[in-house]
Amino acid sequence: MSLSNGDLAELLWRAGDEEADHRRRALRRASGAARFWGEEARDLAVAGRSLTELRAVGPWVAARIHGWLDTAPEVPDPDETRRGFLTMAEVRTVLAAEPEWERTPHADLQVHTTDSDGGLPLPEMAARARDLGRPFIAITDHSKSLAIANGMDERRLADQMVRIEELNAEMTAAGDPFHVLRSIEMDVFPDGSCDMAPEDLAPLDLVLGAFHSKLRMREDQTERYLAALREPSIHVLAHPQARMYGRRTGLRADWPRVFAEAAARGKAIELDATPARQDLSVELARIATAEGVRCFSVGSDAHSAFELEFLPFGLATAVLAGIPRERILNYRPVEEVLAWGRDLRAGEEPRAPI
Ligand SMILES: [Zn+2]
Repeated sequence: MSLSNGDLAELLWRAGDEEADHRRRALRRASGAARFWGEEARDLAVAGRSLTELRAVGPWVAARIHGWLDTAPEVPDPDETRRGFLTMAEVRTVLAAEPEWERTPHADLQVHTTDSDGGLPLPEMAARARDLGRPFIAITDHSKSLAIANGMDERRLADQMVRIEELNAEMTAAGDPFHVLRSIEMDVFPDGSCDMAPEDLAPLDLVLGAFHSKLRMREDQTERYLAALREPSIHVLAHPQARMYGRRTGLRADWPRVFAEAAARGKAIELDATPARQDLSVELARIATAEGVRCFSVGSDAHSAFELEFLPFGLATAVLAGIPRERILNYRPVEEVLAWGRDLRAGEEPRAPI
């Protein structure tokens, strides 16, 4: 009974290959859902609970799962694009053993709104994050080059900044300490250069830089990363590897060298918590920690209110990679994060003890 939900997801997927029509669809649906079950199916079985408690599991699929749990078949290696992802059950187990990580207030440093490709307007997204207990968030809509995601040009960015300032002023007037950082997920070109000018980015509290093009290149991309980290406007390298579950493995690079550069420049590396991204992976996050990266930034990368709850995937990755909580911007007071951002842009050694 040692099969994990990740193993079952793989077995369910492969079993779907052997079936047709509604049975195949049922297996595929259960495979997708398995990665989000909050408990290990094997624990339910041991406790004598019905597997139909799990989402997308009916009696027929439950019988298949029982069969595997009883016989413990060899699980074939998943495709390269599906390796190294945590399941929700694993996330819950990791964080249950380290309850301080969720109990201590922590921000969400990548959130999208209808100003680019998100589903909710800025005030509503901020309100939902606040309801989840986030002490502050960064609104990180896309920049102009990412037209497919309705990226903002300079004028729209400036307009959004005004609306964020108004929202913060309202919160302050109401005695609410919740704060919204003026931020952006800025497109970084394959040569490592920014798609917006330093003067347009200067008023922002936090600039996330992210690659969105030529993500399937198999050649070493170390130079692309080093160039991006040397851009003075960029504070955080967002979803660094650009991998996507089931679709692409992400870029290749000399990771120790990339992370050593980030460490030397005091730049932050993101742990993107969207389940299909989990970028950095635990494996790369360990290398980043070993190379002395001083700052990490965790973002749900939420495009809807529901996705704000993805954040624990990033927290569990940090725990498993041995990242000390003090090195994670999300856990610092907002004033410290603001000061850190200003110092980094000015090329000064950050005042905050990160
Ligand atoms: Zn992105």
